Amino acid sequence: MAEEDVQAATPEPELAPYLLESARSSRSKCRTCRRKIDKDTLRLGILLEGPFGTGYLWHHLTCAARRRLEDVEAAYEQQAFADGLQVPPLAELQALKEKAEQARAERKELPYVERAPSGRSKCKNCGKAIDQDALRVVLAREVSFGNQVRATPINVHPECVHAELESEDCMTEVDGFEAQLRQNSTLESSVVDEAVAAIGVLEG
Ligand SMILES: [Zn+2]
Ligand SMILES: [Zn+2]
Repeated sequence: MAEEDVQAATPEPELAPYLLESARSSRSKCRTCRRKIDKDTLRLGILLEGPFGTGYLWHHLTCAARRRLEDVEAAYEQQAFADGLQVPPLAELQALKEKAEQARAERKELPYVERAPSGRSKCKNCGKAIDQDALRVVLAREVSFGNQVRATPINVHPECVHAELESEDCMTEVDGFEAQLRQNSTLESSVVDEAVAAIGVLEG
């Protein structure tokens, strides 16, 4: 554990379980988003009692609200901040969590078909532009970041779906493709039919 991430252990064991404060330096890192916490930004410390001592693990207050609201609520309940510290009303943080959950729920499942909102996207299979309002199919392609592998959404022409599904790094399965496409797409079913016809027959 890097030293700047955990506040130095103190001999007095009586640290409160939470500490909400304005960051005293820019050296701490948020345990939720992994980014640095700028000086004077509100941060929530959650006490960790480990074998090497006791200290706070920090989170941006807003990150904590989105991902571990119960800790934020407990910190507010325990008044884990100095008198006079300007903290947002709890309701504002609760609303952040709701918004974050909504965004997660709306994140689309792949694959699906949609109309290109502009003419700027390119087909990741053939490399040619996808016209504005043309149907495009969004598939999952495997992309690695360091030693992590993730599914990244890519846009392809309906006619290029077949070739893309055969490529090695495609993470969308041929099996059940059409059923999933229909289930995940929000376009009218006659439009999805059009896309399915353009995609052609896929061999599972
Ligand atoms: Zn953060
Ligand atoms: Zn293409």
